[in-house]
Amino acid sequence: MPFRSAVSTPRQERGPDRRSPRMFVDVVVYSTRTMPVPYFAPYVHLWRRIAKRGVWVHYGMHFDGSAGWFQQDGQGLYKLPEISLHRVPVPENEEEPHETLTDGTPAHIAAELMTLAHEFGHFLSWKATDETTWLVYRLLLDRMAAIQDAINALRESELSSTGDAFNERYRRTLAEQLSDEERTLVLDEEKNAWRLGRPHVPEGLQARYDAQEERGIQIYEYRLSLSSYGPPDE
Ligand SMILES: [Zn+2]
Repeated sequence: MPFRSAVSTPRQERGPDRRSPRMFVDVVVYSTRTMPVPYFAPYVHLWRRIAKRGVWVHYGMHFDGSAGWFQQDGQGLYKLPEISLHRVPVPENEEEPHETLTDGTPAHIAAELMTLAHEFGHFLSWKATDETTWLVYRLLLDRMAAIQDAINALRESELSSTGDAFNERYRRTLAEQLSDEERTLVLDEEKNAWRLGRPHVPEGLQARYDAQEERGIQIYEYRLSLSSYGPPDE
C-alpha cells in the first residue's frame, strides 16, 4: 500500500500503527476554497480546554477519509484518551495548534474547528455513557474495522474492481454481519457526538456545523444501510 511509506516517520515508533482503525469514523467534507483564519483564536481555546480534560490532542494522518477521530482507550501516546485531527504532512510539533500548513499556506481552521468540536462531542458522550454500553459500541467498531481490513485485502488481489465496488461490498457486508440494532447504535453515537459538540463551536460557524452534521449523518445512514435514501452526493 503506497501510503505505508508515508507514515514511516519517527512518530511511528511511539506507538502502534498510526493509521486510523476505522473507515468512516468522521467524514467531513472540506471546502475547496482556502479559508481565512478568523477562527484560529477559538480553535486554540477549544484545543487547550480539551487538553485540560486529560485528552491527548494532536495532528495525525488518516487514510480512511476521516477528518478526525476520538479513541477513549489510551492506545495512543501517553495512554490518554485521544483526539486526532487530519493534517498532511503532520506538523513538526503535532501537539500544538498550527494556523498554517507546513508549506505556510493557511490551514482549514474553520473546518478543523468543527471537527475538533465533533470529536470533543465523542469524548463527552463517552464520559456520559455507562461502561458496558460504551464497550459494546467499541467492540462494534472493532468488528467493522476487521470487515474493512478483510475487504481491503481483497482489494489488493482484485485490482480491476473500482473503489466504489469495494465501498459497496463493505456496505453490504456490514448490513449482513451487523444487526439493525448494532448499526443503529453506531449511528446514535455519531448523532450524540454532533449534538454534544455543537455548543463548542463559535456562533458564526454554527450554521455550517449544522450542515456538516446533516451531511455526516446522511453518509453514515447510507453506509450503515439505515436509510431508505440512495447514496449521498459525494
Ligand atoms: Zn464521529
